[in-house]
Amino acid sequence: MNQALNVRDLSLYEPRPFRVYTNRQIREIPALQNLPEQLRFEIEVVANVLPFRVNEYVIESLIDWDRVPDDPLFRLVFPQREMLEPGAFERMAELMKSGADRKAINELAKELRADLNPHPAGQMELNVPTLGEDKVEGMQHKYRETVLFFPSQGQVCHSYCTFCFRWAQFVGDKELRFASNEADSLLEYLRTHQEVSDLLMTGGDPMVMKTHKLRPYLEGLLQPELAHVQTIRIGTKALTFWPHRFVSDPDADDLLRLFEQLVNTGKHVAIMAHYNHWREMDTPIAREAIRRLRDAGVEIRSQGPLLAGINDDPEVWARMWREQVRLGIIPYYMFVERDTGARRYFEVPLARAWEIYRGAMQNVSGLGRTARGPSMSCEPGKVEIQGVTEIHGEKVFVLRFIQGRNADWVQRPFFAKYNENATWLNHLEPALGEERFFFEDEFEQIKKERGVA
Ligand SMILES: *Cc1c(COP(=O)(O)O)cnc(C)c1O
Repeated sequence: MNQALNVRDLSLYEPRPFRVYTNRQIREIPALQNLPEQLRFEIEVVANVLPFRVNEYVIESLIDWDRVPDDPLFRLVFPQREMLEPGAFERMAELMKSGADRKAINELAKELRADLNPHPAGQMELNVPTLGEDKVEGMQHKYRETVLFFPSQGQVCHSYCTFCFRWAQFVGDKELRFASNEADSLLEYLRTHQEVSDLLMTGGDPMVMKTHKLRPYLEGLLQPELAHVQTIRIGTKALTFWPHRFVSDPDADDLLRLFEQLVNTGKHVAIMAHYNHWREMDTPIAREAIRRLRDAGVEIRSQGPLLAGINDDPEVWARMWREQVRLGIIPYYMFVERDTGARRYFEVPLARAWEIYRGAMQNVSGLGRTARGPSMSCEPGKVEIQGVTEIHGEKVFVLRFIQGRNADWVQRPFFAKYNENATWLNHLEPALGEERFFFEDEFEQIKKERGVA
């Protein structure tokens, strides 16, 4: 099963053209020709509302077509009927059957999307930083140490995940996009914020950018005034969707040399790899990409949400984490799927999420237990479910902030009444006779100060 890593397979280095299919080209996907017509139509209906994009590598090398539609890698990228509410699905299906034109379809799509909470956790209002009087486009600064940056050329992905929490950016609504063209304002902001130790480039997927587009942002961080920015993180799913980016793309070597240059000048470079299933790491090219990144001095940390129908099984997580440790990847976060998009399809009750996390933890060595979670990225911060227990006869969730809008909240345990159906923080109530969670008054104050109701 394990390929010996010291025997390099040179065929992996032959450039592969990037061929991608979007919602208008579903009928052209060869692998779909063998599926029932009804299933193909359902995919098209949902793909008119939620983002759809899949490339040939994912179709040919990741999906197990003998197991479709239950295959987890198929569900990762191909929409399913149940991802829309039945009423919404029917409306779109009827409209399409009536032979409506693009314009009518797009209008209905827009209406249906508005019901899917396109911007969870106050991202639009609460986290946008300012330089002087001006809002800085394409950035979020929520937690003191870490600035998120969304380069405008990085606002797509090599494929789209059906459960994406940033899906609203990919369906053509420009108002819903945070993106920046400006290396200058990023660097200026960082210069004036000495408390920032981490820059997290995210998207979309910054790894869709050509190396020469990425270079000005990253080399800019080498100036002496930015010595406080010690870590450069890049959030990406390219190790799954297009590992060729690090191996056989024409500028793959340039990219690795750029990372190496940053590492050699004392920066920590971390690829925050989005993984949902061990099968994503199971191809020779995926392994070669991991090997090459590590060889360049880059750390790879893994994170991803827990998803019904894809990875809601402790053994899938345990096997994924064991495999990551073996390949030199550090497990970092298990997220709770956010309250947006097709969340009804993917959501897992918090109580079950904790059981899955615990079940997985019990089956990995200490090196696999570096993953924190299950963690909810909420408005006040990242909240981890530490466990379920009983205190004086009352069944409770034990929670804590992993990250807080106010750093003082971090690592403080707090309690919520046990609720077996709750899937998000706003479904929980304080336990043990408390009226409010400890952070709520302060959080309201923060929102008032920012002029957000
Ligand atoms: C998760 C997250 C970060 C990074 O948090 P770490 O715990 O340092 O990984 C930064 N900003 C936002 C908005 C986040 O959601």
